[in-house]
Amino acid sequence: MCTPKSDQRVREPQQPAPGTGGQNNVAGAAENMPPENAGGTVSQCPTCPDRVVVIDPGHGGTATVGGSSPNNATSSSGILEKKMTLELARLVRSSLQSAEMVAAAKRKGFSLKVLMTRDSDVNVGISTRANFAKNNRADLFLSIHYNGGGRATRGTETIIGGWDNANMSQDRMFAQRIQNGVLNAIKKFDSGATSRGVKVDKDIINAKGKPLSLGILKDAHLGKAVRSCLVEVEFISHPKVDALLNTGGNAAAVRAEIAKGLAAAMIDDLR
Ligand SMILES: [Zn+2]
Repeated sequence: MCTPKSDQRVREPQQPAPGTGGQNNVAGAAENMPPENAGGTVSQCPTCPDRVVVIDPGHGGTATVGGSSPNNATSSSGILEKKMTLELARLVRSSLQSAEMVAAAKRKGFSLKVLMTRDSDVNVGISTRANFAKNNRADLFLSIHYNGGGRATRGTETIIGGWDNANMSQDRMFAQRIQNGVLNAIKKFDSGATSRGVKVDKDIINAKGKPLSLGILKDAHLGKAVRSCLVEVEFISHPKVDALLNTGGNAAAVRAEIAKGLAAAMIDDLR
């Protein structure tokens, strides 16, 4: 028998989205987006409590849904961010399900359930993605994005929520692990790896001159228990980054290394 996960943290009541029949579906009926609840339990550790991680590939589909745009950045060779986020999320999931990571989790005393907010080219609303983590009683929520903007800017940054965040210090620790995981992976292949740091959304001034507020990182959607961050892996509009991640000879190896770094960072953060 698996021991139920102990509730050391404040858990909010679970409220399945309407129309989901009580299932832990990511997409509400209004958005007509079936969940892509792929992954499942990846290790059988009868005496271990489960830990749940949710990976959120940014964007998707062809239309804005619930504040989520279908795509944002485009690589200098024309590859869309939404495609790259999904591919990397799948690689992170595979890495978390590898024997190496399952063993690492087991050494910490638990089995791991890996879920994704989408597993195909569909868009899912912002609050629906976050609610998915809350409803599945996730320990960790990682939203994956790529930056864009000009051909000269590059670097990795990880963002945490700063508005009414009940566990900001824990989010910051998680985000730092994620940031280091990506940076160290890129450094193995590219001396141009650059850290733009861990940032708090409300400290970032948006294009309208207002403090940034990322709904995906708000406790109102995620609940107070899940530790969360959003990683902007790199600026894919930079030609060297595009070569590094997409078109160069090592691109597949770089992506795999980044995924491994992200998976290891998530395992490290579990407790
Ligand atoms: Zn994005």
